[in-house]
Amino acid sequence: MRLNDELTKIKGIGEKTAQVFLRAGIASVEDLLGYFPRGYEEFAEPVSVTSLPDNGPAVVCATVTGEPGVRRVGKLQIVDAVIRDESGSLRVTWFNMPYLKNTLGAGKRYVFKGRVTAGRFGRVMEQPIIYTPENYAAFVGKLQPIYSLTAGLTRNMLGKTVREALCGLPELPEYLPGKVRKDYRLAEYNYALRTIHFPPDKTELAFARKRLVFDEFFLFILAVRYLRDTNEEQPNGCRIQASAQVGKFVESLPFALTNAQKRCYEEILADLTGPSLMNRLVQGDVGSGKTIVALLALMQMAAGGWQGVLMAPTEVLARQHYETVTGFLRDANMPFQTELLTGSMTAKEKRLAYARIASHEADIIIGTHALIQDKVQFARLGLVITDEQHRFGVRQREILASKGDESRQTPPHVLVMSATPIPRTLAIILYGDLDISVIDEKPANRLPVKNCVIGAGRRKKACEFIIGQVKEGRQAYVICPMVEDSGMMEGENVKDYAAKLREELPPFITIGTLHGRMKPAEKNRVMEEFSRGQIHVLVSTTVVEVGVDVPNATVMVVENAERFGLAQLHQLRGRIGRGEHQSYCIFINGSDDSKNKRLEVLNRTNDGFVIASEDLKLRGPGDIFGLRQSGMMDFALGDIYTDAGILKQASEAADRILKEDYGLEQEAHASLKRKLARYMDQKLEKLSL
Ligand code: ADP
Ligand code: MG
Repeated sequence: MRLNDELTKIKGIGEKTAQVFLRAGIASVEDLLGYFPRGYEEFAEPVSVTSLPDNGPAVVCATVTGEPGVRRVGKLQIVDAVIRDESGSLRVTWFNMPYLKNTLGAGKRYVFKGRVTAGRFGRVMEQPIIYTPENYAAFVGKLQPIYSLTAGLTRNMLGKTVREALCGLPELPEYLPGKVRKDYRLAEYNYALRTIHFPPDKTELAFARKRLVFDEFFLFILAVRYLRDTNEEQPNGCRIQASAQVGKFVESLPFALTNAQKRCYEEILADLTGPSLMNRLVQGDVGSGKTIVALLALMQMAAGGWQGVLMAPTEVLARQHYETVTGFLRDANMPFQTELLTGSMTAKEKRLAYARIASHEADIIIGTHALIQDKVQFARLGLVITDEQHRFGVRQREILASKGDESRQTPPHVLVMSATPIPRTLAIILYGDLDISVIDEKPANRLPVKNCVIGAGRRKKACEFIIGQVKEGRQAYVICPMVEDSGMMEGENVKDYAAKLREELPPFITIGTLHGRMKPAEKNRVMEEFSRGQIHVLVSTTVVEVGVDVPNATVMVVENAERFGLAQLHQLRGRIGRGEHQSYCIFINGSDDSKNKRLEVLNRTNDGFVIASEDLKLRGPGDIFGLRQSGMMDFALGDIYTDAGILKQASEAADRILKEDYGLEQEAHASLKRKLARYMDQKLEKLSL
């Protein structure tokens, strides 16, 4: 067996099973081994019934008393049993597993591992996994991997298949040079792979993990360095003179720029008119007004005779930027031509857009990933801006920037905009040597968003609140974690929720739905209707999370808020509080854990920087046994915040190797060269930063 073999080469994997793995993105043996556990489950010694906690995960060894009963509650079938040991008895329940009634024999002793909650009729253990005492004894003290599962893929299947693969593979080449391993005390590669999937204990796990996190960062950094090819300052080949026309435009705006916006704009203007090419990150919390700053830069370049392009990560956002920009320019009677380019446009519309871009009829071009296609040829590209930078693949950013070279001129200026507060040292490692402008101030007319966290029981109140706001002329978002009832997971979904709201809200309130499975054209229509105020309440998944700007919306209700990460919730909340009206964010906690730490942080502060650092504290450096929240920068294992130390080491090691042997020609670097080529081929695309 080899790393790039298909899964069917593994013992026990047929075509059908391979399809199931494919749905989780696992096509090859290499993908499988790189499908790292997202956490580990510990198997504690069972405790007695009376010493169980009132709330939380627990393990107990006890005997089933009497025959288990089955009852129905709506669609649910609930199996109830009472278990007992020398110290006392406990109620246990399972949902939709009616067969347990027959398999759980009265009088038999089992180990039950599940969550205990304090209900109205005393403590209950819900949905425990059942083991025979002998089976369980074999697990005690061990760490069992927890994998992300998709439909059809079970934990057992994954564990077994990974084990088979590890057995079937020959020893893999160690591609890290011996010196790097020694300098940073890194585990051997084969050992690390085996241990991350099947750790004998925490110490070994930590050792293995460090090695693999290092690899992830190291390969990434090398790849980015090669893509960029140079870190040196480049001369400004598209130098312009500041245009007075743009100055007049600023004065004609319906609002005054904040001081932070002014400073940021001046820094950008100094770059555009200065001797070196711009490579700048604009960091500003949600709602700080980054778009207008980007527009000013685009206008300056247009006035100087250059094209500029603004790329957004979603079609909804690209269209919105296009509307905003076109509106501003029209109102101020500016002579610049704008152009939109997105994937959902018809072939004919695209052809016309390509033509206007190639002929320089279009000055300011706004779009999605569609902009990086070969067919897009610029006449005279001078500025490339990416909005919501963290949503783009590294390669996508680089391809767009390289479009300037195609027109046989100098490379364009690069501006990246992000709401993610990345510390400067990390930003330099990730984006190369760039300058940073921070917009650390919000427009003066803003009232801070008022927050509250409520239990699902008070949902009716939230509903009444929405009605009140709509009566005052405002609009609301309701976010649900799922699109429709999947049967797999409990939680609110867009379709059922919208139907439920329809019954509860008076008829004059219009409701719309938005989710990722809708066709782009349909999504655009809904978003436009919401922008125009024709839809009052928008029930949506997190597709509205990035960038969307409807200042009249003042309510954000997040259902099952406990399911989302802090950064994501902060982004969601950023959709409101964007206008002059008081806005309200209601986080509905769908779990029994009434003291959700993350929700408390959000409830306490609206400041993105504070939230990011609290997030870091909650996750805690070295907290590698807990489950991963999906973070900002999605490496498979590494976390740029909590693993910042390893990131620095990897960056140092990469720089040293590049200095010593840029082409990786030395014998000691042959393995690394092959590994890196594969990485750049297969992995880079998927990473977004
Ligand atoms: P973000 O930084 O999240 O991308 P936007 O650029 O979308 O924020 O701006 C949010 C809203 O604030 C927009 O409606 C925009 O027109 C408005 N805005 C921007 N700058 C100002 C300002 N200086 N004063 C008042 N409103 C502003
Ligand atoms: Mg924005």
